[in-house]
Amino acid sequence: MSATAKRAAEAAEHFDVLIVGAGISGIGGAYHLTHQMPGTSFVVLETQESFGGTWITHKYPGIRSDSDLHTFGYRFKPWVGPPIAAASEILKYMSEVIEENDLGRHIRYGHTIRKAEWSGKTNTWTIDALKANGEAVRITCGFLWMCQGYYRHGKGYTPEWPGMSSFKGKIVHPQAWPTDLDYTGKKMIVIGSGATAATLVPNVANDVEHVTMLQRSPTWFIPGRNAIEIAEKLRELQVDEHWIHEITRRQILKDQDEFTRRAREDTEAVQKELLDAVKLFLGEDYDIATHFTPKYRPWRQRIAFIPDGDLFTGIASGKASVVTDEIERFTEKGILLKSGKELEADIIVTATGFDLSPQGDIDFVVDGKPRAMSDTVTYRGMMFTGLPNMVWVFGYFRASWTLRVDIVADFVCRLLTQMKKTGAKRVEVAIPDRLKDMKLSSWIDPEDFNPGYIMRGMDALPRRGSERDWQHTQDYWNEKDEFPKLDLAGEAFVYDGGKVLA
Ligand SMILES: Cc1cc2nc3c(=O)[nH]c(=O)nc-3n(C[C@H](O)[C@H](O)[C@H](O)COP(=O)(O)OP(=O)(O)OC[C@H]3O[C@@H](n4cnc5c(N)ncnc54)[C@H](O)[C@@H]3O)c2cc1C
Repeated sequence: MSATAKRAAEAAEHFDVLIVGAGISGIGGAYHLTHQMPGTSFVVLETQESFGGTWITHKYPGIRSDSDLHTFGYRFKPWVGPPIAAASEILKYMSEVIEENDLGRHIRYGHTIRKAEWSGKTNTWTIDALKANGEAVRITCGFLWMCQGYYRHGKGYTPEWPGMSSFKGKIVHPQAWPTDLDYTGKKMIVIGSGATAATLVPNVANDVEHVTMLQRSPTWFIPGRNAIEIAEKLRELQVDEHWIHEITRRQILKDQDEFTRRAREDTEAVQKELLDAVKLFLGEDYDIATHFTPKYRPWRQRIAFIPDGDLFTGIASGKASVVTDEIERFTEKGILLKSGKELEADIIVTATGFDLSPQGDIDFVVDGKPRAMSDTVTYRGMMFTGLPNMVWVFGYFRASWTLRVDIVADFVCRLLTQMKKTGAKRVEVAIPDRLKDMKLSSWIDPEDFNPGYIMRGMDALPRRGSERDWQHTQDYWNEKDEFPKLDLAGEAFVYDGGKVLA
């Protein structure tokens, strides 16, 4: 660190903990710190002008969750609405968490963190951020809690297709949806068939002249009623909402566990069930084999729940349709497909996903040397070799993200409490000698889970080892019991630069 930078750091505000991001993870972290470690000084820095993360970034018509809010909600605050919720309802829920727990005073909006520099001499991170007005801010902290999500909020991913500039209409990415976009009576093509496309299509169908979902290959969906039976039953019995929340969560998790297992072990039966559900909406004559029968096994990519089957009712009404084909090039009027057919459009929506950004575009420097997440090996998907005093909340794919927010928060609070008790100022994870020859591979096994954004960004992610402790297992069902028992004095943890046992 230069002498000037050192002086600035000495003068900087200091917090015990700094949380990056005010999405569902950052607000959850702030809640748990306040409740489990009262008296801890902390600040949340957030680029955007409000909380919500994903749920304020995305403003396209109909934006909603694709997993249920009993498990996407926190374990400590009951969700009382229908399971699939609009972004506005999720934001309201989060605003209540902030207000009820007086978290607002800890959050600073319009602060983008650019650099985080660790000093082993002072055992602190020095954080350089830029305010929205361009002013530089420097803050130091003892512990960095990364809640920056996993994708770049500023810009979505759009592949380059030939002829894009010749298209005379508008090209829109759902991550940057213009709020004044008028699509009434227009012809729209939505490229993609993930959760975003499946949400957008039924939500614009009534207003457009026609909307076409153009997909290269089909996706698995689960259509169903936007309600959970056990929650309805318990409400009828006037059971306390806290109980309903907990019981409903357990029921959902049990069902999901069973479904995941069956998708692996009894793939054909699960495929048949999913296809039968689609047939109920579209009828026997619809070409389900071409448009809704994916080539991959269910759960190799996230399966979107389609509340009340709205995507399929949109198709059945004739206002929406699906084309399964490949793009040859854009034309003045729309898209020319490899089959030779041309689709006309006034608006083309590229629901083609996002760009992975595991570090939140923050440059890490450790004792003077740059250190990227991709240079590290993960401990349980939350700590990283060579990055001291840092945890990242990377949620679950096959279960709601927030389930992990709560259990990682418990772990962080337990770790910080233990460090306070023993006087340790620095903790990092290191692969123990006995595992030094452990096989390392990519963050996630593509055979198990392989959505496009992960495959495109795998190189930027940390590596995983062959031992369970050195992986993000994506297994909430076991991790919920394993995390509280992780041995902080165990072989993976190194305190204060030596093997000091906690
Ligand atoms: C459209 C969409 C729908 C989804 N639906 C579901 C669902 O139904 N269920 C589910 O489990 N998951 C869903 N996901 C995944 C979803 O991203 C997570 O569930 C969850 O919202 C992530 O929360 P987060 O707080 O970790 O990150 P984010 O929501 O990504 O929030 C991170 C915040 O950190 C801020 N930030 C990032 N870098 C910096 C920096 N350098 N400095 C300051 N601030 C920074 C960002 O501005 C952002 O506000 C969905 C994702 C998308 C895109």
